Amino acid sequence: MNVNKTLNGLTLKGESEKNKDGSIVINGKLEGMVEVECVKCLKPFKKEINEEVKFKIVKPPYEGFDEEYDIIEQEKYDLEEILKSEIESIKNDYNICDECKNEEFNKNF
Ligand SMILES: [Zn+2]
Repeated sequence: MNVNKTLNGLTLKGESEKNKDGSIVINGKLEGMVEVECVKCLKPFKKEINEEVKFKIVKPPYEGFDEEYDIIEQEKYDLEEILKSEIESIKNDYNICDECKNEEFNKNF
């Protein structure tokens, strides 16, 4: 099945497939601009996202392990929830704005 869902500027595009055991795998891409906060000056800025993703959506409780896929536990398959949690994790990344990045860069010389 085709996946194409956008939430708050972030788009998940790709292909989903249902496995025999009921799990769903998504092979796709996250693209877009997400508003994040700079860890240094706390100013919001837009971060460009462009990454390949492999998700496996399983019903909790899940005790397996998967080397290839990021496991997402969901009672009910919900793309919007997946995008929400991806946005959350992007916001929790080490995000630094261009200005602060340049400042750090210049300090090293
Ligand atoms: Zn900054």
